[in-house]
Amino acid sequence: NLVPIGRALISVSDKSGLLDLARALAVQGVELISTGGTSGMLRTAGLKVRDVSDVTGFPEMMDGRVKTLHPNVHGALLALRDDDEHLLAMAAHGIEPIDLLIVNLYPFEETVAKGADHDTCIENIDIGGPAMIRAASKNHRFVTVLTDPADYAGLLDQMKAHDGATTLAFRQKLALAAYSRTAAYDTAVSGWLSGQLNQPFTRSKSFGGVLAQGLRYGENPHQAAAFYTDGSRREGVATAKQWQGKELSYNNINDTDAAFELVAEFANAGPACAIIKHANPCGVGTAGSLKEAYLRAYACDQTSAFGGIVALNQPLDAETAEEIVKIFTEVVIAPGASDEARAIFAGKKNLRLLTTKGLPDPAEKSLAFKQVAGGFLVQDRDTDSITADDLKVVTKRAPTDAELADLLFAWKVAKHVKSNAIVYVKDGATVGVGAGQMSRIDSTRIAARKAGDMADALGLAQSPTIGSVVASDAFFPFADGLLAAAEAGATAIIQPGGSMRDDEVIAAADAAGLAMVFTDQRHFRH
Ligand code: 5GP
Repeated sequence: NLVPIGRALISVSDKSGLLDLARALAVQGVELISTGGTSGMLRTAGLKVRDVSDVTGFPEMMDGRVKTLHPNVHGALLALRDDDEHLLAMAAHGIEPIDLLIVNLYPFEETVAKGADHDTCIENIDIGGPAMIRAASKNHRFVTVLTDPADYAGLLDQMKAHDGATTLAFRQKLALAAYSRTAAYDTAVSGWLSGQLNQPFTRSKSFGGVLAQGLRYGENPHQAAAFYTDGSRREGVATAKQWQGKELSYNNINDTDAAFELVAEFANAGPACAIIKHANPCGVGTAGSLKEAYLRAYACDQTSAFGGIVALNQPLDAETAEEIVKIFTEVVIAPGASDEARAIFAGKKNLRLLTTKGLPDPAEKSLAFKQVAGGFLVQDRDTDSITADDLKVVTKRAPTDAELADLLFAWKVAKHVKSNAIVYVKDGATVGVGAGQMSRIDSTRIAARKAGDMADALGLAQSPTIGSVVASDAFFPFADGLLAAAEAGATAIIQPGGSMRDDEVIAAADAAGLAMVFTDQRHFRH
């Protein structure tokens, strides 16, 4: 997979590092071809360089709009070196292969950032550069493509190590970087143009991803919105088949995603169900049957579950469908649905049913984005999980096996609850969820109070939080939150630990007879 470099085309706007690179290539006997400005600089430095107009037989023209757009350039980049027909075509048309392409683009982004006028920005849209980059990248089996001066040194190292050649792995890495560059470049152009034309990006076909669906509106009716796929094909709302019901709304998609990602954490837990409202779970249940799992999830907060999103970790069956249709539900998503179940849903025109081919893998790496003024934040998706072995018992009393199972369950759910998150769990189902509060003690109290309300509504003799366990997505900064959980009847706690006042919190747990484990891992979610 080593390909020696005999001929290079260099066409760069950012000329930093150019001379050193060109000199090093010349020393290795690489023939250099260049466009106007670049070749001028190389020649002034005393380097031997061939003008691209000599290769194309055309002058550079139209203010540089047309320089390299020619079969003698693109054929030289695209020809497969091991294909007889391609070799014949090269010979027939006098096309000489180009093995190395060094291009960086007209500074479109910088021109826009400087506040240049419309025509100047238009003139700074590079055409030939991206075309060559894309051609060379497509043919990376044979061609090396550099789009960033920061990679020049790496190229020279490669050539030194491999006697003037590059490895396939190196060319692959550069091709990926090159396509990312042209994608980002065109995204910048489309973003700028949408601003110029006062057309929201949602009306344009591309915004980094691929437009899957224009939406009626966004979070609110006055916001335009659209749904884009990112090419990952991750199982979930983007890949699901919709069987019935109105088009998904922006909020439906957001909540369905939250529901399915949550229930996917329980892939190996037997039947499981999660019900979501406003991106937070209002109930998660596991049981021997899917119907029971749904009923247990529903029992956690029947008030909030109304109009919610239901996610299942197993194909929807008829008896579960019979239960679900008893209240108004916006969306049900599951890895499949039986014919009987679909027939039961068919009578509910407003209920959207989505099925996927499977569950997403919670551990699969990917990125999460959040927009802020003037930019966006990028982070790894929260893919961490723990097992019983990762836990550190910090109290005098260790959790019982039953408590331990519920603690791990609660921890999984807490990861999917907006911070500050507090989750009460009993026997494999949530019994109280406190989400999105600015103080942890409020989340603790709200979850317990809601559980109490639920007990009243159902006519239970006592609140289900009695004898429950509690997960906290981050440490308890003070003992008060923990005491509130104990007051609600919790017997065991799982939390990251790491507070300045851990000693105080542990002492309070011991005094209340609680078992507490530390995860040494946090699950903030905002
Ligand atoms: P130079 O300074 O060498 O004259 O021009 C270098 C720049 O021209 C590079 O940024 C390269 O991407 C760009 N370029 C190369 N070929 C073409 C072309 O055919 N059309 C346009 N618009 N730009 C090109």
